[in-house]
Amino acid sequence: MRYRTRFSHEHYVCPNCNEKLTKSRVQNNWKCPDCNEILSIYTTDDNHVYQRKMGQDIVKYDSVKLPSYKDSFDVLDVQYQNGKYSVALKGYTVISLKEEDWLNCIWGSWDGDVNSL
Ligand SMILES: [Zn+2]
Repeated sequence: MRYRTRFSHEHYVCPNCNEKLTKSRVQNNWKCPDCNEILSIYTTDDNHVYQRKMGQDIVKYDSVKLPSYKDSFDVLDVQYQNGKYSVALKGYTVISLKEEDWLNCIWGSWDGDVNSL
C-alpha cells in the first residue's frame, strides 16, 4: 500500500493565519508556506477535518485514516530508522513510511459548508 492518499475534494486552511490556501502552495509538505503550521484539510468526502502528516510529525494518539477502512487507527508508537518511519497502529499493524510519505490524521469534523471556510 502506498501511504500518500488524497481525498477527492480538499480545502486547505492554516489555523494559525486563518487563511485558505491553494493546493500548489501546500502540496510539498502540507504545511503553511507562511508560518509552517500543519494545515487543517477540510474534505467533503467524509466531513472530517484532517492533518496530513509526514512521518516526522506523526505522534502517539494520532488517529490515522487509511484508504478503504471505515474506522480510524490510533498511533501507538513511531520509530525512525534507516530513512523510514515505522508507525504502529492499534488494531492493525506496523506500517513503514518513506520520507516523502504521509498519513491522513483525523483532526475533527465539520458541517461540510465550503462557504464557511
Ligand atoms: Zn500559517
